[in-house]
Amino acid sequence: MLRLDLPRLEREGSRSFEIAVAPDDPLWEGGDLRFDGDVVVRGRATVSGTGEIVVRLEVEGTRVAECRRCLEAVRIPLKQEMFFVFAEPDESGAVEGSDLRPLAADAMTLELGDVLREELILSTERWVECRDDCAGLCPLCGVNRNEQTCDCSPVEPDPRWDALRALKSE
Ligand SMILES: [Zn+2]
Ligand SMILES: [Zn+2]
Repeated sequence: MLRLDLPRLEREGSRSFEIAVAPDDPLWEGGDLRFDGDVVVRGRATVSGTGEIVVRLEVEGTRVAECRRCLEAVRIPLKQEMFFVFAEPDESGAVEGSDLRPLAADAMTLELGDVLREELILSTERWVECRDDCAGLCPLCGVNRNEQTCDCSPVEPDPRWDALRALKSE
């Protein structure tokens, strides 16, 4: 898991790591995030001169999402860089600087899974399309119009037929 041993990191000053997170990892549960294959996370954590922990991550994988029009699965290459700074809160409990993330003074591990997941959710495209000219599903019979044509007519029935039908039913 994406967890760093803090006493070791503080001893060594910095550490590079590479972790593959499987597509069925509990980290991705309960969100909109789905992946095809492992998500590879390469990172480097460094203890700064003032005691903050600076973490850079490079995340690479293939995201799977549903086309908003035809509902087919779309594979989207994902390559993203992230940057986090963790610091101990001051006496008031506040962490100085808005993009700093709190780190308990007695923490033994630094958990990166949650911040990674949060960042990915924030930056993922909500609406994806399999291609720019995706024809979508027929609203009447539901066929995928990229693959099939159907006989459904999108135009309103000719009102003159109503008159004819009325005659017939008399
Ligand atoms: Zn589509
Ligand atoms: Zn149709």
